[in-house]
Amino acid sequence: MKHFALVGNPNCGKTTLFNTLTGSTAHVGNWPGVTVDKKEGIYKKLEEQISIVDLPGIYSLSPYTSEEVISRNYILDEKPDCIINIIDATNLERNLYLTTQLLEIGVPIVIALNMIDELERQGIKINIEELEKRIGLPVVEISALKEMNVDSVMERAYAEVTKGRESSSVLRTTVLGHLIRDVETAFKGIKVDNPLFHAIKLVEFDELEISNHPNLVGIVEEFKKNFNDELFGVDFEAIIADERYKYITKNFSPLKIIVDPQKNLEGAEKSYKIDKVLTNKWAGIPIFLVILFAIFHLTFSENFLFLGGLFEETAPSFAGTMLEGLIWTDGGINSPGVILFNLLDALTSSGIEAVAGYLGGLEESGAIDPWVSGLVCDGVLAGLASVLSFLPQILVLFLLFSILEDSGYMARVAFILDKLFRKFGLSGRAFMPMIMGFGCSVPAMINTRTLADENEKLATIRVIPFFSCGAKLPILTAIAGGILEVFKVGSADLITYGMYVVGMVTAIVAVLVMRSTTIKGETPPFIMELPNYHMPQFKSTMIHLWDKAKHFIQKAFTIILASTIVIWFLSHFSWDYKLLADEEMDKSILGSIGMLLQPLFTPLGFGSQLKSFGWVFVVAAITGLIAKENVVATFGALAACITGVMVDVEASGGDIQAAVTMISGTGISLGGLLAFIAFNMTTIPCFATVATTKAELTKGKFNWTLVFWLVTSFIVSTMIYLAVEFTWTIAIMVVLIVLVVLAIKQSNKKINLKKAK
Ligand code: GDP
Ligand code: MG
Repeated sequence: MKHFALVGNPNCGKTTLFNTLTGSTAHVGNWPGVTVDKKEGIYKKLEEQISIVDLPGIYSLSPYTSEEVISRNYILDEKPDCIINIIDATNLERNLYLTTQLLEIGVPIVIALNMIDELERQGIKINIEELEKRIGLPVVEISALKEMNVDSVMERAYAEVTKGRESSSVLRTTVLGHLIRDVETAFKGIKVDNPLFHAIKLVEFDELEISNHPNLVGIVEEFKKNFNDELFGVDFEAIIADERYKYITKNFSPLKIIVDPQKNLEGAEKSYKIDKVLTNKWAGIPIFLVILFAIFHLTFSENFLFLGGLFEETAPSFAGTMLEGLIWTDGGINSPGVILFNLLDALTSSGIEAVAGYLGGLEESGAIDPWVSGLVCDGVLAGLASVLSFLPQILVLFLLFSILEDSGYMARVAFILDKLFRKFGLSGRAFMPMIMGFGCSVPAMINTRTLADENEKLATIRVIPFFSCGAKLPILTAIAGGILEVFKVGSADLITYGMYVVGMVTAIVAVLVMRSTTIKGETPPFIMELPNYHMPQFKSTMIHLWDKAKHFIQKAFTIILASTIVIWFLSHFSWDYKLLADEEMDKSILGSIGMLLQPLFTPLGFGSQLKSFGWVFVVAAITGLIAKENVVATFGALAACITGVMVDVEASGGDIQAAVTMISGTGISLGGLLAFIAFNMTTIPCFATVATTKAELTKGKFNWTLVFWLVTSFIVSTMIYLAVEFTWTIAIMVVLIVLVVLAIKQSNKKINLKKAK
């Protein structure tokens, strides 16, 4: 089968074209660096099937980043039958810089001049016939987004395969032309493939080339002795880059013609005006915070647009109807996210009831053992339902985020926040994964691949779980409700909000400490081109969403399903394999493990001081490792052990009822409760996140990351417990924090001094 490779700059539309050509559903993003591995698909509309590879976006073939190495090696080693070089027509010159390098490899190339629709909108036209002639390659105008002309790219490419192509270079006639020819001859002498390409790289003093052919370096060294450029001295890499750009501006820039000056001006002005507001020094961050709040409001609010008061009078009229549960939560209209949540919840719980009824019948007739229906209904189905019930909200959240991303706004936010992030040793790029963490840590972890700097990536990965994800929200709301009822302090929003802030502050402090101790290093520069604003596309947004939903459902039916079964067994069987009733869970295997671990949590306020009940919180936290949704569900089951009566967490207000029972039954203090929430928020995240993290890090770094999470959660929770229970300890903590900050400052100074020397 023939192989075609899609090669181009980041954000030029490769993945969009790939998806159109292969009917695939890879993630498209208006955010440079979205495709981080190569992807393969099949194109079927020609007489034979063609395999198409989507390579990561690159600006050049020099190995600066791992993406550039992947793409370069693919082109040189796998020898695609044709390269489809995608060019963002709105950034012609910069994109052609890569093309001038591709020319030096002897592989057929077709140029797909993409974003023609956008170019038209800007009132610009490119003289295609002349471009083809000057560059010596076929050029096809396309719009990957509008699926315009994409098949003719494939036809042209297919025709090129049989013709083949000799390598060529725009550097032949430059001051280095002779040297390049000499080195090329030397490469030909040792029978290396693509001698021209390797020759130029060697002249550039490319590290890979030097280490592969050290004996040819002499030719370049010799030439340097009698050479001196006014501007660049003997820096051949700079001279070559300069020559490429000179060639491009001289030959290709004139091919861009403004055909509609009016449109051109208006377009530029509009974008400029929008940017002036959105990236404004003062207004930028507040605007972003408002937008962020709107997103969370649309997804999670139970008092949508704060309209609750308006309907206070009319609300009783639909009390007791279907509507009440669906769109009305005491005192407010539900947001779209919550409505979808309720809808799915109603469906699944009636489904579970039906199954429970059916199994109950079988049990009575003696067809099955009692434990079967317990396992199926309480274990498997309840577990799956509680996880899947979050799917609607996660999808709404992702939908809104992907609209923001696709429009080009997110790239601007990263730009605004860069200055702030820099103070903590991160660049603006780290912002995206963090914000995604509020939804779900799994995609957030994957997104850290766009961070080219290893240290920055590691630091970001470690703090992502502190950005409290959607699944941790029920823990917050249930316990906050319980606190309000038992201790009569605070308010639900205040406690919830406070805990989100605790998470973020922990993240900031942790990054600061790590970046000045274990993972020191320069904050990488933040260079990201601001993509054009454009209307988010329905198709790519849906592809994006489907991808997320698929991932989540897969997770629910694999890792979470398996773990709920295991937990159910551990909490319903004693060490001698006796089936236990719900209220006897303290005798279960899990209960006894909890009791064993209980003393460890004494400094956190939910350990041995709770006497015979410390284990219940420990067990709840352990089940949270599987999925954070489990914590509240476990509360319901454990409340039964304490009072002998099972609390139905599914019923409205049931989760808070469970929390109240846990609080009054165990006698836990306010400080202990707050510490418990903080512990769940900052400790090792759910299995799915841990598995993703493992895939992103080397083994050693991964193990240390687990340790880091455990240690952080113990420190943060202990501090909260002590501060609330024994107020005088705050003074000691303040002194300690000041000392740590001073120590960090001191060590940074030393490093700077060393550098200065
Ligand atoms: P990649 O980084 O090269 O894989 O680029 P993507 O395929 O992820 O696309 C980057 C952005 O450009 C996305 O927002 C796309 O919707 C947008 N895009 C891609 N092709 C076109 C096009 O033909 N016209 C317009 N206006 N936008 C496009
Ligand atoms: Mg891509």
